[in-house]
Amino acid sequence: MSELTIGLILPDVLGTYGDNGNALVLRGRARKRGIDTEVVTIKLGEPVPTNLDLYCVGGGEDTAQILAAKHLTEHRGLIEAANLGRPIFAICAGLQVLGESFRADGRIVDGVGLIDATTSSLGKRTIGELISTPAGIPELTDTLTGFENHMGATILGPDAAPLGRVIRGVGNCDAHGATADGSAEADGQVGAEGVVQGSIIATYMHGPALARNPQLADLLLARAMGVELSSLEPLDIPEVEQLRKERLR
Ligand code: GLN
Repeated sequence: MSELTIGLILPDVLGTYGDNGNALVLRGRARKRGIDTEVVTIKLGEPVPTNLDLYCVGGGEDTAQILAAKHLTEHRGLIEAANLGRPIFAICAGLQVLGESFRADGRIVDGVGLIDATTSSLGKRTIGELISTPAGIPELTDTLTGFENHMGATILGPDAAPLGRVIRGVGNCDAHGATADGSAEADGQVGAEGVVQGSIIATYMHGPALARNPQLADLLLARAMGVELSSLEPLDIPEVEQLRKERLR
């Protein structure tokens, strides 16, 4: 077994907009530092092992994410991994699926219940660049950049904090979505992006997010290895800097 194992969870149903690339970015950044790393792919119908160091869950279409929610609830591996404090990184439909409930294919579906959040619908689909200032994790200081394409309006409960505050784009929800479920706590929900809860980091950023946000990638690697982010040797990859500059322009 490799020194570091990264689970790519259900890429056959949750892997839109290149989200599978997050696992590849993590593997690439670890290998550049001489850490023997492998990606373990878990497909629909296969049990999720609890002993991986880090888990990546991507985005997907409505029907696909309903299948994912059912699978991840029935096979308890990801839930157990979260209970063990293993880092989990989830994108868009992945974020919604890990919540308490979400709306898909015109109905409300039970989520896995790892994130204190419910997802209803935005006033209209949001598609475009999503930029935010990190908020929920002190070590994260670099502006977050990604691409969003979703209909979900996610309201966070008291156990979940936003990953960032939106500078451009929508993120978790718009004003319509914030009040759709009659939530009296709409304040602060509009303009929130993503979720931080225990060992889980989730976001609406596709991109893949970790190609655009190397500091976030390294934070996940550091957590997976049980070390401080500041202890990771910096990587000088000019293409990544160039990509960030272009997307943030
Ligand atoms: N199906 C979900 C929505 O439209 C998630 C989409 C996605 O993962 N990009 O909100």
